[in-house]
Amino acid sequence: MQTSVIGFPRIGTVRELKFACEKYFRNEIKAEELRQTAETLRKTHWNTQKNAGIDYISSNDFSYYDMLLDTAVLFGIIPKRYRELNLPELDTYFAMARGYQGASGDVRALAMKKWFNTNYHYIVPELEDDTVITLSGSKLWDEYAEAKALGIETKPVVIGAYTLLKLCRYTGKKTADDYLEEVICAYRELIKKCEEYQVAWLQFDEPSLVQDMEKEDLTLFRKLYDGILPSVKQCKVLLQTYFGDVRDVYPELIKMPFGGIGLDFIEGKETCRLIETYGFPEDKLLFAGLINGKNIWKNHYGKTLQTLEALQKKGIQTVLSTSCSLLHVPYTLKHEKKLSPEYLDHFAFAEEKLEELRELKYLSECGAYHSDAAYLNNEKLFAEDRNCRNVEVEKRLSLVKDSDYVRLPARRERQKLQKKVFGLPELPTTTIGSFPQTKDVKANRSTYRKGEISEQEYVEFNRKKIAECVRWQEEIGLDVLVHGEYERNDMVEYFGEALGGFLFTEKAWVQSYGTRCVKPPIIWGDVYREKPITVEWSVYAQSLTKKIMKGMLTGPVTILNWSFPREDISIKESISQIALAIRDEVLDLEKNGIRMIQIDEAALREKLPLRKTDWQKEYLDFAIPAFRLTHSGVKPETQIHTHMCYSEFTDIIPAIDAMDADVITFEASRSDLQILDALREHHFETEAGPGVYDIHSPRVPSVEEIVAAVERMLTKIDREKLWINPDCGLKTRAMPETDASLRNMTEAARRIRKEV
Ligand code: GLN
Ligand code: ZN
Repeated sequence: MQTSVIGFPRIGTVRELKFACEKYFRNEIKAEELRQTAETLRKTHWNTQKNAGIDYISSNDFSYYDMLLDTAVLFGIIPKRYRELNLPELDTYFAMARGYQGASGDVRALAMKKWFNTNYHYIVPELEDDTVITLSGSKLWDEYAEAKALGIETKPVVIGAYTLLKLCRYTGKKTADDYLEEVICAYRELIKKCEEYQVAWLQFDEPSLVQDMEKEDLTLFRKLYDGILPSVKQCKVLLQTYFGDVRDVYPELIKMPFGGIGLDFIEGKETCRLIETYGFPEDKLLFAGLINGKNIWKNHYGKTLQTLEALQKKGIQTVLSTSCSLLHVPYTLKHEKKLSPEYLDHFAFAEEKLEELRELKYLSECGAYHSDAAYLNNEKLFAEDRNCRNVEVEKRLSLVKDSDYVRLPARRERQKLQKKVFGLPELPTTTIGSFPQTKDVKANRSTYRKGEISEQEYVEFNRKKIAECVRWQEEIGLDVLVHGEYERNDMVEYFGEALGGFLFTEKAWVQSYGTRCVKPPIIWGDVYREKPITVEWSVYAQSLTKKIMKGMLTGPVTILNWSFPREDISIKESISQIALAIRDEVLDLEKNGIRMIQIDEAALREKLPLRKTDWQKEYLDFAIPAFRLTHSGVKPETQIHTHMCYSEFTDIIPAIDAMDADVITFEASRSDLQILDALREHHFETEAGPGVYDIHSPRVPSVEEIVAAVERMLTKIDREKLWINPDCGLKTRAMPETDASLRNMTEAARRIRKEV
């Protein structure tokens, strides 16, 4: 039996790529130095996989920013406004990813969206009516040849034609069908070139196939591959799917001339049933995604071997694979010095997963695996008690009543009351919570963590920062203030650290977008709050101003979704435990005089099941009540805000409204504002602050631009319901652009208020 890896992380074990890119952005290094860093990383990653004995190793899974953007560039999908900047190739690429403001022009970045049900974000390619899709780049072959020169035969990976067309944004009149011919030609060219390079296997990633497919989708898929596949001669095509099962297209798929089909056995609930019902052709390889590419718990060998045996009994030629790219897990346990083996024994990051692939390959071939030490050790791990239950937590959860999920009085009444007690100007201005994590802020935290300064010094510094930022916000003229979140590394890690039941890693970074990484905590056991977490900071900040200070919390759904979840209890149970912990914090903030509390649910949307039929029962039915549980205990005049880092919730508007927050702020500046029409149609009650400028880019929006954005919003949303705020927190930005942008934002608000 052979093994395969769909993709490997690329940012570097100590985030080398991130730092090199950021230096390049700041003009501190030349393109050549960045290229060298990238080359070294690729070499390391290939060798690591080779040394683990992996048979199918990917190339072109490396990216400077994002693999969908790479695919777009490979096919010349570069909107005119970026081409017209006339920048060198690499800079055009980064301009699309991050926006550009400089001597050659001023353009915003392309939109960014969450990659299926992960916390990875991809860049949304734009197809304009005059875009010509044609093979343009050479990255795929350059990297293939680079690996080959190292003595490693790889399977180049590229996003498949169907997923590409599904994820593009169409800015003109044309639709996917209008590009069909061009796309087919471009992929045929790609295959032809692969043949020239004597590529043995080529991997087309088609995750869009795990989503609900309508009849038109099936037709589109068929047309594309009926056009593309006849150009294959020597080279074999692996159609790789992940994040679910391909129930809508499976019967078709197995009839098509692919050399191999990659199926997800972890998230693909129906994968086994599909194979059972329709069989799997003898002449193809089944790449069986049995090693979880998204979570960090060790694989249960007994179960995996059973599945492999069943497949082999059916005569299916099986390649053992990861369930998705390992991009979504950290690199290695090697750097984790603080966690004891009692914990570490249970985990496998990317490198350890390679080891699992190697061990499973060996066990499946050795005949009598039942007596093998590797197998027995693994069995023992799953048999032992992990010591992770907490009776108190479980008891409290069992006592939660239906009425605990309902806040009274009804929102309309609360909103009236709140308008009166807060007396805010119309179109109130606010920010989402964090301010720039400047060098001094990070240094303060890291020296404290290393024990180089005392707790008192640490706290003093943060208090000074808070005081400065309160004064600054007053001067800028914001209406609702925040304390700046200087004490937080990350919105989830910070709460995880303060809650019982979580474990933390030192270097377990996972790429979130571009150069941005997160270090998700691990939920090890039952979750509970040990003591107040944010109360002192918020109370101190409020004491410095007469304006309203928003308390700032992360919601239960987001805490769970941005952690590595347990696999021994349900997601629902974990979320409810976290909800009770956050509820305690909400009530403590209120008790201590905080009158507005924002509970961020930045990640609510991303774990929405990929298939509509699962939305309600498998997610919304417990995620939304969990949010309500956090705030249902507050007084009517306490205002609850929530925030979301995206605006693609058109299809779950009633659920968002049912969270029963008083105000929601969300990211909107990179999207069109169709969401606002949809809110109106659904009689959305929650007041709304669609972000008026993009915070993912250093670009400063002008006053006029913001005025225009707000005016557009005002045509779609009631004046008394609109808030003015940026897209998201400002922690990744630098101070000068933040100051300039926020001043422009408050100035814009003043102008619009005057206009009436
Ligand atoms: N309050 C958080 C912040 O401002 C929200 C972050 C987020 O939505 N990702 O940083
Ligand atoms: Zn956000």
